[in-house]
Amino acid sequence: MVHKVIHKLLTALLASIALPVPLFRAFDYRVPPTLTEAVRRGARVRVPFGRRELIGVVLATQPDSDADPADYRDLIEVLDPTPLLPPDLLGLCEWAAGYYHHPLGDVVTSALPGRLRKGAAAERDQPLVYALTDAGAAARPAVPERFRAQRAVLDALHGAPLPRDALACSAGVLRQLEDKGWIERRGVQTQSAGVPASPAPTAEQAAALEQLERDDGRFGVHLIEGVTGSGKTELYLRRIAACIARGQQALVLAPEISLTPQLEARFRERFGDGVVSFHSGLGDRGREQAWLGSRSGDARVVIGTRSAVWLPFARLGLIVVDEEHDTSYKQQDGLRYSARDVAIMRARKLDIPILLGSATPSLESLYNAGAGRYRHLRLERRVHDTPPPQIRLLDVRGLPLDHGLSPPLLQAAERHLQQGGQVLLFLNRRGYAPVLLCHVCGWSAPCNHCDAHMTLHQGRSLLICHHCGAQQPIPRACPSCGERRLLPVGAGTERVEQALANRFPQYAVARFDSDRITSPTALERQLADIREGRARILVGTQILAKGHDFPGLSMVGIVSADQALYGSDFRALERMGQLVTQVAGRAGRAGQPGEVWLQTHEPEHPLLRVMAEQGYRALCERLLVEREQTALPPFSHLALLRAEAREPDAALRYLDAAWPLFDGHAGVTAMDPMPSGMERRAGYTRAQLLLSATSRAALHRTLAAAVPRLSQLPDARRVRWSIDVDPYDLM
Ligand code: ADP
Ligand code: ZN
Ligand code: ZN
Repeated sequence: MVHKVIHKLLTALLASIALPVPLFRAFDYRVPPTLTEAVRRGARVRVPFGRRELIGVVLATQPDSDADPADYRDLIEVLDPTPLLPPDLLGLCEWAAGYYHHPLGDVVTSALPGRLRKGAAAERDQPLVYALTDAGAAARPAVPERFRAQRAVLDALHGAPLPRDALACSAGVLRQLEDKGWIERRGVQTQSAGVPASPAPTAEQAAALEQLERDDGRFGVHLIEGVTGSGKTELYLRRIAACIARGQQALVLAPEISLTPQLEARFRERFGDGVVSFHSGLGDRGREQAWLGSRSGDARVVIGTRSAVWLPFARLGLIVVDEEHDTSYKQQDGLRYSARDVAIMRARKLDIPILLGSATPSLESLYNAGAGRYRHLRLERRVHDTPPPQIRLLDVRGLPLDHGLSPPLLQAAERHLQQGGQVLLFLNRRGYAPVLLCHVCGWSAPCNHCDAHMTLHQGRSLLICHHCGAQQPIPRACPSCGERRLLPVGAGTERVEQALANRFPQYAVARFDSDRITSPTALERQLADIREGRARILVGTQILAKGHDFPGLSMVGIVSADQALYGSDFRALERMGQLVTQVAGRAGRAGQPGEVWLQTHEPEHPLLRVMAEQGYRALCERLLVEREQTALPPFSHLALLRAEAREPDAALRYLDAAWPLFDGHAGVTAMDPMPSGMERRAGYTRAQLLLSATSRAALHRTLAAAVPRLSQLPDARRVRWSIDVDPYDLM
């Protein structure tokens, strides 16, 4: 009794904490009187959880006079004197947890770099750059070839000082160079001297800028559609300069920036040391420093991949999403978010402008622009006035194919090579051949863990499954009948590279795929070979579609795009149109339009013809009509419940049990559960349940009611399940 009274007098302070546990709720703790001052929204705290201790983030505090102290455990410690996560970022996490129906604790803690998540103190290294000394500048030309790493650093610093994270080398190399007195460390000057001025805008750029300047720093989504080379990046640079001049920071999202060093270099050239990059290649420590620099406001421009959308900012004033259509913006596991969509929501909440740029915008963005939700700016002309190339369909039916290449394609390539041009061959398949077939009994190397074939990688003498990563040696004879002749069927980049090397022994071939391009240095080396004319033929996958500049390229050959025509994925044609257009856009030099050939067995395919004859925009208009007729996005809103289990029937059984939770909600159709496109992958049998809704609100009401109950279903412990809101593919 007495206890109760005293307690009532000393109203308890409760704190609601986001914890890294897979539960859809926050946890309340009592704040001991000594900590009441320190506990604030966004601060990290240490709490007891079961028999463990966890690090969590304070979401809210609330005095509660009715709380019975016996119901709550005490916070142990507050780790941050000032809250680590700014309120706007926490708000964004809360929104994302709701929108993607994902546990909030997981969203909040994934926004923290690894060490901070584990409770380390948030301390910044003294920001430093490495610079070339006079001695280093003098020594640079004479460093022997075999000191490759040292030379690379000296070359990189030749233009301007660079921060550690911009130098792709080991700490040892830096130490050796410092010991020789060739490089030195300096403190950062945030305002770098001698910033190159922007070129005078072209007429199209001027018109676009006038539109962009009207936003006045307020929220608005601007879709900048312009072919490669039309000057989009220059527009970003100008808007970012204006943002910095207002004392704010800018966030630039780009797909896979370790593969596009040119983009980062351009930002550094314009904005100097205030540019910070953020991507997985940095390592924990580098990412943490970038995170803290962004939070403090020292990083004026952050250029990063998908996860940079979760960085804290002191004063964010502008977001740019370059290549907004790129699939790498969609995270395919855990919190399945679209960085582009989260970026738009972030801009809306902060009331700041966002620029989406692409030569080939997604159907969603084109649709939103058409509906007036986004402002649509177009740059039709290339700055250097090279007309965009025309795509010619090359009917290969009945033609003899030399490792996938037809005689007309090879002849065209030969002509361009003889005239001094460079030739690019694109195909979106790495390895030597996608199938290894026994000519006698029909055995075709299967993956034992997936419903898929293993890809033949001749260079590495392996069969590799591209879906689960399983590897095995290439069998000497057919495991089924003993036949020794095993035929590679179909062509990948390795095979095309070899065919070209045989056919054109006098020209070097550079291959670009993830087997060959294993580091930024490897990429840089190959790009230099192309730039300096040592390699005249390029063969590669979509890496070649990513914004690299090939000024000597006069011809592009697309080895095949037919897969997309038969694909069951509803985005296959949109994606094909984007890839083909992006790759074709690399062709053309010195005012000459490039030549683009596309080999196909379906030359009459109506959509292929529209794309070739009228271009990507016309293709999109046709695809949008189809999407409307089939009620697919953007004309409907989808969510996918996926389940997978080792036991063959468990996933489907689980989804059958889940289905009633989703059924019977107005405006939402819950399709029958069915096996996934690739039913078995990495040893798991997979199934899915598709929800389609006419309105987002209806979809979210249904998900909010159903998702928390999914883990209570009888089979829930036998399966791994996940919710994918706005899924990218339905496979
Ligand atoms: P995109 O981002 O659309 O591919 P960029 O902004 O990279 O286009 O521009 C293509 C090329 O033209 C770049 O080399 C860039 O430096 C140059 N450029 C862009 N705008 C101008 C301009 N107004 N005057 C001169 N050169 C420009
Ligand atoms: Zn056989
Ligand atoms: Zn496999």
